[in-house]
Amino acid sequence: MPKDLYEIGEVPPLGHVPTRMHAFTIRRERYGEPRDAFAREIVPVPELKPGHVLIYTMAAGINYNNIWAAKGHPADVIAAREKAGEPEDYHVGGSDGSGVVWAVGDGVTNVRVGDHVIMASGQWDEAADDIRMGGDPIASRTMRVWGYENNHGSFAQFTLVKDVQLHHKPESLPWDVAGGFLASVATAYRQLFGWPPHTVRPGDPVLIWGGAGGLGTAAIQLVHQAGGLPVAVVSTEEKAKVCRELGAVGTILRTEFDHWGRVPDESDTQAYAEWFRGVRAFGKRFWAEVGERRSPRIVFEHTGADTLPTSLYLCDNSGMVVTCGATSGFQADVDLRFLWMRLKRLQGSHFASPAQCRMAIHLVESGRIDPCVTKVVGFDEIGEAHQILHENRQPPGNMAALVNAAPGQTGLDLS
Ligand code: NDP
Repeated sequence: MPKDLYEIGEVPPLGHVPTRMHAFTIRRERYGEPRDAFAREIVPVPELKPGHVLIYTMAAGINYNNIWAAKGHPADVIAAREKAGEPEDYHVGGSDGSGVVWAVGDGVTNVRVGDHVIMASGQWDEAADDIRMGGDPIASRTMRVWGYENNHGSFAQFTLVKDVQLHHKPESLPWDVAGGFLASVATAYRQLFGWPPHTVRPGDPVLIWGGAGGLGTAAIQLVHQAGGLPVAVVSTEEKAKVCRELGAVGTILRTEFDHWGRVPDESDTQAYAEWFRGVRAFGKRFWAEVGERRSPRIVFEHTGADTLPTSLYLCDNSGMVVTCGATSGFQADVDLRFLWMRLKRLQGSHFASPAQCRMAIHLVESGRIDPCVTKVVGFDEIGEAHQILHENRQPPGNMAALVNAAPGQTGLDLS
């Protein structure tokens, strides 16, 4: 007999949509540390709309963006959505995930009920004027990050997505792995291959910040695959070892330098000279790791305020600093002289196109890229997993949370 609420891991009859579900929510009155902001509660299953698909969530990826959602800063995502007329006064996060198609809305033709899918985090309106004029959907005014800017992410038994977000899950991939890598691997793929002419070429030195993180582990392997020379920056020797195993030709411990953060004003000649000494020493160390006096043609950024001044200085003439994030802060100093005098490019990059997602999934499926999903937590540990990420205590690679899946499970028994 179909019910209106199921326990985590309990499978409803295929296609039966209960009215309520278990979810990990964030509410405004709990904004703060992730472990306090997230809480498990029972909420309505989101309503299916045309062009949308309801997914029975098997696993969810843990990403940095829901730390911001938990803090309510730099954006109050709940307030922003209420202002736009959405009724929910809570946020269900989760911008990575895997699951089973449970119901499809009008107009959906790319998936059918029962399909096993990976959810990508980019959501947009394909009928939007800027997309119809041939624009990149990621640059569309309608682009939103599902499970961060939009509600009904993967930290719940059911999640609501648009059809453009869906990719078929390789059958061999366990749900927890499938749900835990796409935001990292596809974003890194676009950063390294999506901005011609600054795509990785054989022999190109590439500086990779946060080499043992979700993005960093993907970036090292992608640069290595393309014949480039990845040099990874990390904070511990243990992480450095992981980076070398993934293909880094060199590693730098950022703890051996202290010139991070805002650049001293030039009028403070002593402080500025000290900063300059630090950044030059870091540059020399980069050359030592590459084994020749060559600066990075591409700097893989996402660490933000602490590192951007160093990235801009170190980047080779006519090279590119490409960034998709700002873990250490989003107000970063840019010394324009380095940009124009040396013809450098500072490029923003955000997630990935469907084609780039497909390429990332293919690279993982074919075994060329290790998705590095190294820690899988239970559904009730979603808040704590974000706290660990916030405190930079996560193991190298990506974290995922089980929703309805068991560890290592690849299919779903619907009998
Ligand atoms: P992780 O936490 O897995 O990795 C980040 C790494 O950054 C850590 O391993 C840490 O390594 C390093 N780090 C932390 N603080 C600093 C600092 N102050 N200076 C230098 N390095 C630091 O995160 P992800 O790789 O998943 O994501 C990284 C960033 O990219 C996040 O800000 C995230 O929001 C963003 N992002 C953006 C996407 C987009 O589409 N725009 C998609 C995915 C991620 P260590 O301490 O060893 O140096």
